[in-house]
Amino acid sequence: MLKNIILMGPPGAGKGTLAKQLKHAFHLTHISTGDMFRENIKGGTPLGLLAKSFIDQGHLVPDEVTIEMLKERLAKDDCANGFLLDGFPRTIPQAEALENLSTEINRPIQVVVNLDCDNQELIRRISGRRVCKNCGAPYHVDTMKPKVDGVCDFCGGPLYQRADDNEEALKIRLDHYVHDTKPLLDFYAQRELLENFDSLQGSQELFNQVSQFLNK
Ligand code: ADP
Ligand code: ZN
Repeated sequence: MLKNIILMGPPGAGKGTLAKQLKHAFHLTHISTGDMFRENIKGGTPLGLLAKSFIDQGHLVPDEVTIEMLKERLAKDDCANGFLLDGFPRTIPQAEALENLSTEINRPIQVVVNLDCDNQELIRRISGRRVCKNCGAPYHVDTMKPKVDGVCDFCGGPLYQRADDNEEALKIRLDHYVHDTKPLLDFYAQRELLENFDSLQGSQELFNQVSQFLNK
């Protein structure tokens, strides 16, 4: 079983949804840098304040800040039996830092699961996305409605639209993906860690495919 995993893909490809499924199935620790930033924003910490100014506009949080946050997180005990990185690394300097760090603490990356998705579908998914304020569960106004309007099926929390899920910020996020994050596909292909999956298939099919691969 492959246990130290990076999930990659453009915003809206379904990293968060897949991460939640894999986490439960394989008892992995889910590390989402986006969620960590949002927690900090909610808590009004200095890190949150700084991150918010970048995130709401669709920009990336600076590498030094993000790398430091991740470094602390990855060293915690709950990462010893496997972790799922969701949203990190997003730049070449982040990938290089991760390579050094994960070797140092003897928790090397074993596979990079890349989710392919076309732009039109990404825009459709993100513009209709709603998220539970409480537990982060994702919904969609057309294709993944909650049982009760505006209320999370799992925890009863209120659903909201992320501040960066608007047309303007999304365009910038997609540009950052192309310029900053896409080069990582070559980086990991060179290291023979890259595995591509089609995220246009249903989320259950995708989960089955990825699970089968990880279990090999
Ligand atoms: P999505 O994958 O839908 O874009 P995330 O929740 O992963 O959403 O991230 C939301 C935002 O948080 C990003 O647009 C970016 O501003 C910031 N962020 C998350 N991870 C990183 C990272 N590794 N480096 C820089 N910024 C990040
Ligand atoms: Zn919820």
